[in-house]
Amino acid sequence: MTRRVALIGSPLKRQHSAVMHNAAFTAHGIDATYELRPIDPDGVAAFFAEAREPDWLGFGVTAPYKQVAMVHLDEIEPGASAIGAVNNGARRDDGSLVGFNTDASGFMSAVESMGTPVAGRRAVVVGAGGAARAVVWALLDAGAESVFVANRTPERARVLADSLARYGNVTPGSLDGPALGAALGSAAIAVNATTVGMTTDTFAFDVAGLPEGALVFDLVYVPPITPLVQAATARGLDVCNGMEMLVRQGEIAFERWTGIASTAAVMRNALEAWLADPETKH
Ligand code: NAP
Repeated sequence: MTRRVALIGSPLKRQHSAVMHNAAFTAHGIDATYELRPIDPDGVAAFFAEAREPDWLGFGVTAPYKQVAMVHLDEIEPGASAIGAVNNGARRDDGSLVGFNTDASGFMSAVESMGTPVAGRRAVVVGAGGAARAVVWALLDAGAESVFVANRTPERARVLADSLARYGNVTPGSLDGPALGAALGSAAIAVNATTVGMTTDTFAFDVAGLPEGALVFDLVYVPPITPLVQAATARGLDVCNGMEMLVRQGEIAFERWTGIASTAAVMRNALEAWLADPETKH
């Protein structure tokens, strides 16, 4: 029986997850496929009924279904509950479905791979969308002393900070004014969780004021080398890009579906080969 995983979303423009997971299935001799399943909102319930069938290992969820997916699942793990979004899930042997959030754990796995301690240190997160929520929660859960969340629309940063305040010290702010610069000046980790850098030649914050040894983390993975990554590298700071987070969160989901750990290298290599030659079959 060929086992199945599908990513649901609308639209589904990116093939990165399919490239990574299908490479890992092949590398480990697992008879399974990861497919992209663009669906309309009225197809979500039917999808989660289908995903309970014995041939399913699990599922991925992307925009705009990361919240609505939760009502179709039997269990939501605590991190995903706190974040308020599920981006991956697994089918248990009894056909029940459990949802979790690998954006948070993938982010932390990438931070740990850089050797950057989080506990007791200050962080800045720019952005207040779904990815920012996962990152802020992950930093607070890892014991960050404080997280300053700045957003173009400050009201969204305030809402995010209010909803995660029970997990630690989180302060909202805007992209203008002195507060962001002051927070960056004492930050051990500064994260871009906006879409800035994807299509524009700009960055969401200035790396000039960060302390020596700070880690700059850009969640954007298209392109893998953004203007922010370039600027942070040029300043000699530690740098992690969105591709590494994508790989790490994929590794965590893959282990949940198959029990097989340590697939990051296979996934990273497959992504790099595919990006070098997008016509490659996967
Ligand atoms: P989202 O919910 O749509 O949030 C977008 C964020 O970007 C908001 O904070 C928005 O600010 C901000 N923004 C957009 N245009 C801006 C501009 N011109 N100037 C300043 N801020 C701007 O998106 P998301 O799902 O959180 O994703 C954010 C990024 O993270 C995307 O690039 C996504 O690909 C990436 N991501 C990467 C991974 C990974 O594994 N590497 C995982 C998840 C997400 P407003 O609130 O003011 O609109």
